[in-house]
Amino acid sequence: MNIPMLDLSREYQAHKVAIDAAIEKCLSQQHWILGPEVFEFEQAVSQFLSTPHCIGTASGTEALLIALRAIAIQKFGTEFFTKEQKILVPAFTFTATADVVLRAGATPVCCDIDLETFTIDCTQVAEYLDQHADVVGIIPVHLYGHAANMQALQSLAQEHRLFIVEDVAQAFGGSYEGRALGTLGDIGCYSFFPSKNLGCFGDGGMVSTADSDLAEILRILIRHGGEDKYNASHVGYNARLDTLQAAILQVKLQHLTLGNQKRSDIAAQYMQGLAEIASLDLPIVKPWCTHAFHQFTLRIPADHRQALQTFLQERGIASMIYYPVPLHQMTLFSNAAECASTMLHAEKAAATVLSLPIGPYMSAEEVSAVIQAIQDYFIAHCPNLI
Ligand SMILES: *Cc1c(COP(=O)(O)O)cnc(C)c1O
Repeated sequence: MNIPMLDLSREYQAHKVAIDAAIEKCLSQQHWILGPEVFEFEQAVSQFLSTPHCIGTASGTEALLIALRAIAIQKFGTEFFTKEQKILVPAFTFTATADVVLRAGATPVCCDIDLETFTIDCTQVAEYLDQHADVVGIIPVHLYGHAANMQALQSLAQEHRLFIVEDVAQAFGGSYEGRALGTLGDIGCYSFFPSKNLGCFGDGGMVSTADSDLAEILRILIRHGGEDKYNASHVGYNARLDTLQAAILQVKLQHLTLGNQKRSDIAAQYMQGLAEIASLDLPIVKPWCTHAFHQFTLRIPADHRQALQTFLQERGIASMIYYPVPLHQMTLFSNAAECASTMLHAEKAAATVLSLPIGPYMSAEEVSAVIQAIQDYFIAHCPNLI
């Protein structure tokens, strides 16, 4: 048996004819930088998310960075933030969410998470904001595909005049109260890293916004900071989405909804199959959220996590820990970031989370095999925990 976290080759085989044709077309056109496919794909995503402006970027990380830079320029009239300006981030996320804050000049402030949804703890955010006037914005992360509590965050943002940049890297196609994730804050940032729900054949990303002035600044920043390439007006980047990636993404976008549906079906099968193991905390889906199930992540008592991973591995089943170290304990951020308060939930998550294989082309038999293996582990090693 060999069950990887995600089998990208199956996805490619399923759409090979259309993808190969799209690549062939690029080869014949030789229009590699900002070719027509980039614009067509931006339009297609714009329609998919029901939001006016979408701009392709070189990666999800660059999307987050230029989002912050564009807000500094538009809202504060400066190229970069200053260290005195604080931006709130969840302590439990991928490093890119917070290192862009440093690259944009501001100071990240880590906030604890809600353990049910693994998203930023709005109560702690509210408490921090009541005591600190130097916060300018907040970056909620829709971790694993589950929406953060956007209504709570929107009202806090309004009250304290903060911007919201959504990190949607793990939640493309997910929604909050029926609205596409990424369209609820000032700017949404998406990643097309190969393993994401919508992935390309290399690096790629996107920003979305309803504000046409911001959109203009974002477009300028991805191409060296000038409307005119040879007369820059801002500190820009070379951060465009490749034509080739856009062509591949155009094909794959058509299968995204079905792919997310299949992820959701697999999650339901896991939930049912693992429900009886009392010591596992299975994912919770809040009623406000359509979960994109980028990951199926459960929590297991810390002293059993490594043993279960080894047990699964012996049966050829992959599993991953996203993420073993919360931001505030990373070498970089332990110096460069602040903590809003205690980070107990983030630390607990880092010690107990385990992600299981999931993807649109995983078969029901494979899901059953994973469930069976986990049941066998508990029966063999700790029947008292069932
Ligand atoms: C993947 C990811 C990113 C970065 O996206 P890249 O395209 O790899 O640069 C940012 N934030 C989160 C939460 C991610 O999972």
